[in-house]
Amino acid sequence: MHDKIDLKNFTLPELEQFLFGKGKERFRATQIFKWLYQKDARSFDEMTNLSRELRQDLAETAFISDLAPEAVEEGADGTRKYLFALADGNAVESVLIPDEGRNTLCLSSQVGCAMACEFCLTGTFLFTRNLTTAEIVNQVCAVRRDVEIRNIVLMGMGEPLHNLDNVVRAIQIMIDGNGLQFSNRRVTVSTSGLVPEMAELGRRVTVNLAVSLNATTDELRDRIMPINRKYPLRELLKACKEFPLPSRRKVTFAYVLLGGVNDTLDDAKRLLRLISDIPNKVNLIPFNEHEGCGFKAPTRQAIDQFHSYLLDRHVTVITRESRGSDISAACGQLKGRLDRSHSS
Ligand code: SAH
Ligand code: SF4
Repeated sequence: MHDKIDLKNFTLPELEQFLFGKGKERFRATQIFKWLYQKDARSFDEMTNLSRELRQDLAETAFISDLAPEAVEEGADGTRKYLFALADGNAVESVLIPDEGRNTLCLSSQVGCAMACEFCLTGTFLFTRNLTTAEIVNQVCAVRRDVEIRNIVLMGMGEPLHNLDNVVRAIQIMIDGNGLQFSNRRVTVSTSGLVPEMAELGRRVTVNLAVSLNATTDELRDRIMPINRKYPLRELLKACKEFPLPSRRKVTFAYVLLGGVNDTLDDAKRLLRLISDIPNKVNLIPFNEHEGCGFKAPTRQAIDQFHSYLLDRHVTVITRESRGSDISAACGQLKGRLDRSHSS
């Protein structure tokens, strides 16, 4: 199987090229793409509108990869964490967050993460490898067998823009009318702020952008998010301003509230000043505590004060009440370990 080509790594134009190499017409690629993503075919035998000869040829030269969940855990609030074992023994997690029928699926883009943010559990596990296009797309294919998915966010394990090529390709498959058929308004890439890659993402695909800001001064951001030493706030915010969003969409600024560190009224004031000339909305995420990490959750009072300050100034702000924390599926808690020895 190893020298065969995984068709799920191809965008539609790439699949057309592949078939062109076999002397086949362009519409054959569209047919196969629909089998893969609309009919969820997992073998070439199912593709009954292809000639037997083509099916045979494909079976000899290509294969269709798949991910089946190794485990699914459901939290008290209905949040579901899917654990997927990858072919090489690594594992990744996806999190399904239900919201009155408008389910959001949170995808991983890497095994581990190289960005080493001080407050993030994923960051403490260092970087193992990028996910392939197929491994990203297959998280969607697998969960969609259980439930309808309305929104997709690349906010799981990994820094999506550190795996730009595969992430762009996966998004192209997600938003292709012959593919997974998501509107680009329902797909969001979250980044810690890789400035050149943000521009490149915008050039290659139209998609929503979320930025994990988490600090309002370079001094603090340098400390808690090392990427800031390379791309400081001024450059990051300029890249946000220039990002070509889908029409009438806004940049989401995620802001993890770290108790006593970045949760004062002065922080809220600086945040507003930083983002005011960018179409924005703000997601406040009270820090989820995890073992071995010195940061503390903010007090209820600090959360309310921060939230109200922004709301009173007409910022669209939501405070993301912790979802799935009882199954370690909340923000920054994914570690993607195939750890069968204990379930904590
Ligand atoms: N690497 C990308 C995508 C992952 S998103 C990014 O950082 O944007 C993960 C989100 O969870 C980020 O907004 C991050 O700031 C937040 N986060 C990380 N650790 C957290 C924690 N312990 N509690 C709450 N939010 C956390
Ligand atoms: Fe990586 Fe994002 Fe966690 Fe930072 S917050 S370590 S970029 S996953």
